Amino acid sequence: MNKASSAKRRQLVVGNWKMNGSFQENASLLDAIRLGWQGEQAAEVVICPPFPYIAQAVDRLAASTIMVGAQTLSEFEKGAYTGEVSASMLADLNCKFVIIGHNERRRMQRESDQQVAEKFIQAQRAGLIPILCVGESLDDRNKGLHLQTISNQLQAVFERVGLEKFTDAVLAYEPVWAVGTGKTATPDEAEEVHRFMRVQLGEIGKRVRILYGGSGKAHNAQQLFALEDIDGALLGGASLDADEFLAICAAAEHTEATR
Ligand code: PEP
Repeated sequence: MNKASSAKRRQLVVGNWKMNGSFQENASLLDAIRLGWQGEQAAEVVICPPFPYIAQAVDRLAASTIMVGAQTLSEFEKGAYTGEVSASMLADLNCKFVIIGHNERRRMQRESDQQVAEKFIQAQRAGLIPILCVGESLDDRNKGLHLQTISNQLQAVFERVGLEKFTDAVLAYEPVWAVGTGKTATPDEAEEVHRFMRVQLGEIGKRVRILYGGSGKAHNAQQLFALEDIDGALLGGASLDADEFLAICAAAEHTEATR
């Protein structure tokens, strides 16, 4: 992979608000982000609020280039699935992206690789861009099994949907031990996995964006974004603070301009 090929991948910063916010809190956070990001063009920014606030975010960000995504979706198209939200409903709301396979859902909601693959299919059928998250546990990493875990999680989706579908998808490497823990992967640790993931994608790998997620902060963003195979960030905690989030978006914008 050379610099020329990575230059075609636009940096992407995605904020995952998780189960945080209220109409009032969101209004000021969204306004601060919208005003702070005005005029920037190179990198792309996506905010993923909880379901009840998606319409609010779409509305409040309408005058900006910032896009809105969801944090999950149903693996089914429609029907008797009480409490679920379908891909077409998200598309109706003007959502553009959806996070799939976040480790909090894999662990707490026991989402399987098969369900993750079905969600990926539903998302693309409705015209949404899936952000597929993969990542190893601390135990896997300590045993040197991290690449094997990543490979298993990717293969489960590749086999069900076909590799070519990843040209319209985003991947995120989110080591479980780094998400929400304040512990960030070192540049070497992150780059090793990102490179491995890109190789797993074969020919289309050069075009697919792979984000890093796991306690990303303004102070480490620039260093991570400068790496050859890191194309942006998926952020939890840092996306709830407008200044921190905007500083990371600016780092992505800067990297975009220089690489
Ligand atoms: C996430 O939830 O995807 C995430 C990366 O969280 P945090 O940045 O808080 O580790």
